[in-house]
Amino acid sequence: MAEGPVVGHQWAVELLRNSIKHDRLRHAYLFVGAAQLGKSTLARHFAQSLLCTKADAGRACGACRSCRLQEAGSHPDFILAPPTDRQGQPDRENGLHRAEQAADIIRQALLHPMEGRYKVFLIQDAHRAHTNFSNKLLKTLEEPPPHVVLCLTAQDRSVLLPTIVSRCQVLALRPLGARMMEEALQARWGVAPQQAALLARLANGCPGWAVDQLSQPEPLAERSERLAELQELSRSSRVARLAFAQKLTAARNQTRLFSLLGLWTGWWRDVMLAQSGCLEQCANVDLLDTLADTAGDYRRDDVQAYLRTLSRVEGYLRHTVNTGLALDVLLLQMPRPQAR
Ligand SMILES: [Zn+2]
Repeated sequence: MAEGPVVGHQWAVELLRNSIKHDRLRHAYLFVGAAQLGKSTLARHFAQSLLCTKADAGRACGACRSCRLQEAGSHPDFILAPPTDRQGQPDRENGLHRAEQAADIIRQALLHPMEGRYKVFLIQDAHRAHTNFSNKLLKTLEEPPPHVVLCLTAQDRSVLLPTIVSRCQVLALRPLGARMMEEALQARWGVAPQQAALLARLANGCPGWAVDQLSQPEPLAERSERLAELQELSRSSRVARLAFAQKLTAARNQTRLFSLLGLWTGWWRDVMLAQSGCLEQCANVDLLDTLADTAGDYRRDDVQAYLRTLSRVEGYLRHTVNTGLALDVLLLQMPRPQAR
C-alpha cells in the first residue's frame, strides 16, 4: 500500500527522528490511539527513515532505492503483520494474530536484513492479538536480534500484556484539532474548502477517517443514509428497534459497527449541543437546520443519558461481551421524540 503523509503528531515525529539521529533506538515502539488516527502511517514513516540509505538527521530522503521501495509498499525489510487487504486494512480473515504468525515473525526476525541495517516489523492492532501470539511475541521482545525494530499499534494499551508494554517506547497519540485537519485536507489532498471543513469536523480528530471518505464514490452519501436511518429508528417501535439490533449483530462486521456507533455518538452530541444553544459547535455542519428543528423534540435528560449509554456499550463491545445483548440495550434506550 502506498502511504499518505503524516498529519499532525509533530512531537512523535520529532521524538522518532531524534532517536534515529542520536542512535538511541529502542527495539520496540507502541503507537496507541483511536482507529484511523495515523498510528500505522506514523510507523511506516518511521520505518522509511530507518531504512533510508541517505537519511539526514533522522529524515528520509524520499529518493533512494530504499525510500522508493518503502513508498511503493514493497520494501523487503519492512514486514507487515497481519497482512493487509487491497484497501490497506488489516486482513482479518487471514491475519488473526495467531501463534503461527508470531512464529513466522520470530523466524523472519532471525534473518538478516536484505537491503540495509534494519528489519522493521509493523504489528497492527496488537490489542486484538491472541494470547498465544502475545506470549510468543514477548520472547522476541525479550531478546531481539540487534537489527530488529518492532512497531506495534493498538487502540487500547490496557488490553495488552503489561510485559509487552513495558518493553516498548509508548507513543500515545491524541486526536487532531479540526483546524489542522481542515488545512491538511485542503493543502495535501486538494479538498474543496467547504468539504474539508465538514470532513474535519466529522472526523473526530482522526485524519484516516476523513481521507477514507475521499476515496468513496460518493463521499458522505453513506453517512446521510445512516443519519436518516437513525432518526427513523428514534421514532420506531421496540419491535423495529430490536430487529435492527439483530441485523447489526448478524452482520458481524466490527469495523462497520464501530463506525456506526461513532456516527451515532456524533449525532446525539450535536443534538445535545443544539439543545444547549451551541449550534455553532456541532460537527454535522451540513445538517444544522435539521438539528435546530429536531433537537427540541427530545428530552435533554434522555439525550445525555443516551450519550453515556453509547460510550458504555462501545466500551463493552471493544472487550467483546455479548454483542447481541449490548446492541439490544443500545437500541431500546435510544431517545424517542416527545409530542410538542
Ligand atoms: Zn531514502
